[in-house]
Amino acid sequence: MSPEPHDLAELDPAELEALLQTSGSERFHARQIYRWIYRYGVTDFGRMTDLSRRLRARLEAEFVINTPRVVSDELSIDGTRKFALELGDGRRIESVFIPDTPSMTFCISTQVGCAMACGFCLTGKMGLVRNLTAGEIAGQVRVLAAATNLLEHSFNIVLMGMGEPLHNYEHTMKALRMLNSEHGFAMSPRRVTLSTVGIIPGLERLAHEALMPNLAVSLHATTDAQRTALVPPNKRYPLAAILEACRRFPLKKRSRITFEYVMLDAVNDAPEDARRLVKLLSGIKAKVNLIPLNPAPGIPYSRPSDARVDQFAQILADRYITVSVRKSRGRDIRAACGQLIVEGGSKKTAAQQMALLLR
Ligand code: SAH
Repeated sequence: MSPEPHDLAELDPAELEALLQTSGSERFHARQIYRWIYRYGVTDFGRMTDLSRRLRARLEAEFVINTPRVVSDELSIDGTRKFALELGDGRRIESVFIPDTPSMTFCISTQVGCAMACGFCLTGKMGLVRNLTAGEIAGQVRVLAAATNLLEHSFNIVLMGMGEPLHNYEHTMKALRMLNSEHGFAMSPRRVTLSTVGIIPGLERLAHEALMPNLAVSLHATTDAQRTALVPPNKRYPLAAILEACRRFPLKKRSRITFEYVMLDAVNDAPEDARRLVKLLSGIKAKVNLIPLNPAPGIPYSRPSDARVDQFAQILADRYITVSVRKSRGRDIRAACGQLIVEGGSKKTAAQQMALLLR
């Protein structure tokens, strides 16, 4: 979907300034408008009381500020909240609020559906419907911050909702610029984590970004045969190439790349897998996040026992790799990793999805 040309929610601060200037207003109004939209959650021009009446009337006549609409808001017993949001074209996405981890965290989507087709992920079953626009990505943050009363507090963002952020590179990075604006959320990229299956051209671009989020790479397997079976893009971007890109990735002092590893019972959870993982990560400033599978109907895998997960974690820890086990939050409301799905996915076949991805 191409965004409406007059939707101010799609503009980064520089674009908003330029637009105001070409439409005969002062650039500095951009700051005020940004403040209203992001800091106060106000999208009704009539309420932007530090703008003149005339300007407010003009803005109202010429522009809109589109915001995803909350269609459901479910609360898990563990405090996690899952929001279903409806976009301008009626498509739906899900975004999740995870409190006290220890920070407040928003898990944000970057696409409607996903083309990656990972074998254990429900979103992957939907196929890719479309990319989200920058305004829709940043809009999720606005909506969740308002709904959780965090507009004036700090929070973290994980780009771990529906979609593959590096498969929607431009819009994702533009959304980060919008969220970074000092007149809006002023979000430091250090509070943002981008999780990817490892699309190498995207990783290489990311390595040169001024606003660089923390990086998480979804590894999930330690041989190419197994990884290709679980994470189809591995065919194009195999393990060695991804790890090589990670070795080259510029890291700030004390920061590390997170490697996510979904644990599937009797598939990738053996002690040999753990030992191979240690070898693969040598020379990389890494930490490992083990994610015991969140099972779902239609997903042909099961979750390993806690003892099995602990054994795997212990092998990594014994080799001095920092390892954590991700607690599944919100499983009772299907808000946990890999459980985000909405009706109306495309009917494309897996092969068509791959073709889209490899274009
Ligand atoms: N496309 C990005 C972001 C997606 S989701 C990526 O692949 O990294 C964030 C994490 O949840 C990924 O590591 C993903 O592999 C994992 N995940 C997907 N399905 C899961 C499931 N059923 N159980 C546990 N984790 C899952």
